Amino acid sequence: MGQHVERLKRGLPLLKYLQQQNWTGQRAGRFEYVGLCPLHEETRPSFYVNTRKDVFYCHGCGQGGDLIRFVQLSRQLSFRQSLAYLDPQAVQAADSTALLEQTAAFYQQQLDHYPEAVSYLHRRGIHDPALIRELRIGYAPGGNLRRYLTLQGHSFAVLRRAGLINAQGTDALYQRIVFPLGPGEHIVNLYGRSIGVAFAHRFLPGSKGGLYAWEKVRHCSAVILVEGLFDYAALRQAGFCNVTCSLGTHLNTDQFRQLCDGPPTVYVAFDDDANQSGQRATEQLAHQLAAHGVSVRRVLLPERHDPNSFFVQGEDAHRFHSLLEAARP
Ligand SMILES: [Zn+2]
Repeated sequence: MGQHVERLKRGLPLLKYLQQQNWTGQRAGRFEYVGLCPLHEETRPSFYVNTRKDVFYCHGCGQGGDLIRFVQLSRQLSFRQSLAYLDPQAVQAADSTALLEQTAAFYQQQLDHYPEAVSYLHRRGIHDPALIRELRIGYAPGGNLRRYLTLQGHSFAVLRRAGLINAQGTDALYQRIVFPLGPGEHIVNLYGRSIGVAFAHRFLPGSKGGLYAWEKVRHCSAVILVEGLFDYAALRQAGFCNVTCSLGTHLNTDQFRQLCDGPPTVYVAFDDDANQSGQRATEQLAHQLAAHGVSVRRVLLPERHDPNSFFVQGEDAHRFHSLLEAARP
């Protein structure tokens, strides 16, 4: 929400808004204008606008604040209504973030109530409660999200637009372990891993965002890049802090740029696939990154393994360190 307000205010300075509303002010200083107060009746100007701080203050009625505050006072709107009045798009974006936030929190609460979800995590070797909390891993049992969010006041149309429910009105994520996707605390999408027979990977419509948990590793001297969130979780649990995840072997433009502008060394630890797809993706990415001056090391996992299964089969951090040391350019 805060980010959206800042963006909105950057796009529409207070003075510009006032002028659009036919307010006229005289220059009263390097960053100051003064004129008649639009908020109360007066004949001598006491309404000051500071363009550097982008705020107003009236010595007559004592009111002051920023653009949003001015709209609240002059139109008698609430904070949210003022935002909607100023920029419907900004509000829609803020609403969608709030909706995903509520959804993620709901799925997080569900996790402990479904033994099949917890045992799936354990089968994938993920058991550290602190890490599960930190990554905000949840469970979408299916069939109860729509009702919950409707009770929270969200309309069918809003849930549909976010892709949280299908056209038939059923939950889109069904029997899936859910990871909220950042950046940071700002959720832009959800990833759902099926624990049943459905197609393994599912995202909500829209961008999957940048590299997973990028803000934690962007200043490291080297990062380990994996393709799946379970690989990520396994490495984090094993004590590796400098891990990030591209959510698939195909990096989007944002993700690629992050790697180019980020740590000087990237260890690529994609899956060792029977059909060679992980290996081919590694080769391709290594070439592209090298062309941008990034030093790439290819981590060779044992045949048919990914970092997650590597740890599940009983290997430890020490052994993975050896793989990193043996990684070739
Ligand atoms: Zn006033």
